[in-house]
Amino acid sequence: MKVILLGLPGAGKGTQAERVSGELGIPRVSSGDLFRDHQKRGTELGRLARSYMERGALVPDDVTIGMVMEWIADNASPGGFLLDGFPRTRSQAEALDEALAGEGGLDAAVLIDVSRAELVRRLSGRILCSRCQTPYNRREAPPGEPGKCDRCGGELYQRADDKPEAVEKRIEVYVQDTEPLVAHYREGGKLIRVDGERSVAEVGDALIRALQPVAT
Ligand code: AMP
Repeated sequence: MKVILLGLPGAGKGTQAERVSGELGIPRVSSGDLFRDHQKRGTELGRLARSYMERGALVPDDVTIGMVMEWIADNASPGGFLLDGFPRTRSQAEALDEALAGEGGLDAAVLIDVSRAELVRRLSGRILCSRCQTPYNRREAPPGEPGKCDRCGGELYQRADDKPEAVEKRIEVYVQDTEPLVAHYREGGKLIRVDGERSVAEVGDALIRALQPVAT
């Protein structure tokens, strides 16, 4: 099963990707995590990506497509894969369509639908574990001990691009570059829309239910 997750930054793609990938047994990747990993390792790609990410802008298509296609080639299992945060532009969607053309194409594009007001509220409170990337929210889902990950004890931090100016920019970029993909996948009969303004568990249940027919 080959699935992508679409949705505004803060819609809950990362959280839901983890559950779906676990329950359906398919490997997942977040293009944002791949870039953050390159930054941590100090690679040339990491340095390039940082300059775009800090401003909330998209990393250029050619490098992004190359990086994700390499991940697919190395990690996709016969069961498929789940992409979180890719594609985000028309060129990326076309590159993915082309790469999968020989294998029956994508099975589903899931849109986690959340209003802008809700996500500005979520992102401004979001903190992440610097070690295992588990997300928390200062107000709604705080860790047991302030600043420490419940799961691995790692230090929690706020992403530079979750600061208010960068959040505004990321929303603008989404509306301009990524939102048109919703129509692209709807026209291709692949779009599944899930209401993202419910609890994490309810959104996850809805997602798994929606993907069940695709999986079988
Ligand atoms: P995310 O973790 O998905 O919110 O991504 C964080 C940042 O990484 C984005 O704001 C972009 O700067 C960059 N990024 C992630 N995925 C992509 C993509 N598919 N195309 C271009 N830039 C991306």
